[in-house]
Amino acid sequence: VSSRQKIPDAIAVAVLVANRHRCCICNIPHKHVEIHHTDGNNSNNDPSNLAVLCRDCHSRVTGDEGLGRRYSEEEVREYKRQWELECSQSRNEESDESEEEEDDDDDEEPVDSVYHSRLIRSGGHYHRVFEMKSGQELVVSITADGYINVSVCDLSDYHKFLDGEDFMEYEGDEDVRDCDLSLCASDDGTYVLLLTNAGDEDADTTIDAAVWESAEDED
Ligand SMILES: [Zn+2]
Repeated sequence: VSSRQKIPDAIAVAVLVANRHRCCICNIPHKHVEIHHTDGNNSNNDPSNLAVLCRDCHSRVTGDEGLGRRYSEEEVREYKRQWELECSQSRNEESDESEEEEDDDDDEEPVDSVYHSRLIRSGGHYHRVFEMKSGQELVVSITADGYINVSVCDLSDYHKFLDGEDFMEYEGDEDVRDCDLSLCASDDGTYVLLLTNAGDEDADTTIDAAVWESAEDED
């Protein structure tokens, strides 16, 4: 398409910030990202039409390589909506915390946490990326109104999953409505909580996950 118009800088910046400069599909930090025109019209620079994607996911949206799953326009819009919602919620949490900074420090705060409900469609998946340091512990509690599979894996195995290949997991449980698991990070790195729904019914799922400092680091 030769008629591509440059996205105005102010719009590009606003969209990138709203997405914390991360791909709205995989949410993986520190990847190079591009701005994708969801409707395929390169002159429609309305922010609602602009999705932040890494190159891997972008090629799964537009690619013709005939491998793996392709993302539909509707899926990209849904990923964008969910990720921008999560980004805006975590910003609100951060500002709430700074207002309460003078409070007693009795309560331990997790390094990172997420608590929300998501509909995982039949055949679909949910994932959340956690940056963890060696010794930190990821504690996960899931409840769903249908049977789902729960895994914690590393990034390369998450990509294998996206490509429809077999993948290894550190921890996991299959066909569960309730799942509690924890994982202690053996190395610094990116850990992915992955929930998949292989059943015929959509599953309303509540995800409660937090990364905690290792006990021995506390004094
Ligand atoms: Zn991506």
